[in-house]
Amino acid sequence: MAGIFSKIIAGEIPSYKVHEDDKHYAFLDINPNAVGHTLCVPKKEVDKIFDLSVEDYNQLMHFSRSVALAIEKAIPCNRVGMTVIGLEVPHAHVHLIPLQAMEDATFQKKVTLSPETFQQTADKIREQL
Ligand code: AMP
Repeated sequence: MAGIFSKIIAGEIPSYKVHEDDKHYAFLDINPNAVGHTLCVPKKEVDKIFDLSVEDYNQLMHFSRSVALAIEKAIPCNRVGMTVIGLEVPHAHVHLIPLQAMEDATFQKKVTLSPETFQQTADKIREQL
């Protein structure tokens, strides 16, 4: 059965889309550490990121880099951090998080955003791609 990220990629579940190519999909995390927290996902559903083939892994990193550079231009931050966890959703993904301080990387501090702010944030990042 398709997981939640495959359903998002298929458009069966809504998301604030940031970017897409033939093999990857990027969208805003719905429970973000900070404004602009984005997930980059390979369309092929593989659970653990290090189980991807070397080629698929490198392509995910390449895709994530281009999204991170766009986030850095669109969202005021000290730098964009990259984290891999995967304890909640068993579909490989990279977290890209605009960081002001270490606590933004801890997944302890969360921000609540309105649908309008989510949409404006996704639009701002997309404009930089
Ligand atoms: P993890 O698997 O531990 O790396 O965490 C999965 C991440 O996916 C969490 O940060 C969730 O907030 C995020 N997430 C779960 N469901 C959705 C969704 N429907 N749309 C956007 N982000 C989601």
